[in-house]
Formats: sequence, C-alpha cells, structure tokens
Amino acid sequence: MTHADWARHHTRLFGMFSDAEADMVAHWAALLANEGFAADELAAASEWLVVHDPPKWRDKHCDRLKERVLSQRVLSRSVGPRPDDPGTCCLCGGSGMVSVPGCAGLVTRSGATLDGAEPWSLFAVLCRCALGRWLRPRQGDENRRLTLDDYEKLNPDWRQQLERRGRLLRQRGEVGDLTRSVDAVLGALKTKREVKS
Ligand SMILES: [Zn+2]
Repeated sequence: MTHADWARHHTRLFGMFSDAEADMVAHWAALLANEGFAADELAAASEWLVVHDPPKWRDKHCDRLKERVLSQRVLSRSVGPRPDDPGTCCLCGGSGMVSVPGCAGLVTRSGATLDGAEPWSLFAVLCRCALGRWLRPRQGDENRRLTLDDYEKLNPDWRQQLERRGRLLRQRGEVGDLTRSVDAVLGALKTKREVKS
C-alpha cells in the first residue's frame, strides 16, 4: 500500500467524498509520510479509528492517527523481539526514526526531491540505534528509508540546519504575533486618499 492508497482508503472510510477533502487528505498523507508513518500502519489506524473512536472533526484526524500508530508500535515492541528499551535513545526518542531536513540533490525512493534551498521540509530517516536497525529490513519496499548514517554523509550539517530552522520558525512566529497585535491595537492602515481628506 502506498500513501496515496491510504489517502483514498481513509477518505472512503470516513465518508469524505468532496474534492476539497480528497486534496486535504492527500496533504495529510504527504505530511505523515515525511513524519515516518508507513501507509500500512496508517491504514490499520484508520480502520481502528472508524470503528472505535471516529474523530468528529477533520482537524483531529492526523493527531489521532499518529497516537494510534505510536501506541501500536509500542505494543508490537513489547510482544515482538524488538531490541532495546525504546525510551533510551535521545536521537529518535524511542521511535526509531529521526526527523531531518531535506538537502540539495536528495531524491527519496518514492521520487520526491528534497530541495535544500531552505531546509524547511523535514523527512524521516532510520535512527542508528538498535530500534532503527531493527526497523530497517521491516519496511515496505515502497517506503524504504535512508539510514541516518547514509543521510549524514550527504548532509553533514543537518544539526545546525535544524537549529537554524527552529530559530527562524520561532522568529517568524514572534514577528507574526507582534504584527497582528499592532494591527489589533491600531486598526487598518489608512490609504493615501484617506490621509489627505
Ligand atoms: Zn534511536
């Protein structure tokens, strides 16, 4: 199953038949793929959610799907022969996947180009801890991921890029908040014509 297959499956399960919803769920699929959620895991989560606890608002779907997938991963870890205490890795926080910035010239197996002009888009690579190594042969061919070691050879400065990205996002947020508060206090700017009259 590809992420596009999952998106179609999910929209059908939840009766989301409009074009706007199809487009929205396609965006969810791209994001969730970048966050390291496999299509099969998502499909299982969709099927569970629709039966047990269907979210009323679309806005809640991604979070609930992720919660379900993560809880299932923990479960399969506890019953399967997964290595390591998942809480011990500080690189991946026990998920086996590390979010890293896209870099110039990097093309994923699914054909997405990860442009390094601005390191905004993140995607997931397999951690170098025992859980990451355990996940490596267990991925579907469709979504095979780079290992952190291979990625690091392509983009050795990724930690600094992540920090820079964090700083820029915070600054964007602060500048936006400041500007909106000035707008709220002073109202709209007057046009030249309004100033003259
Ligand atoms: Zn790890």
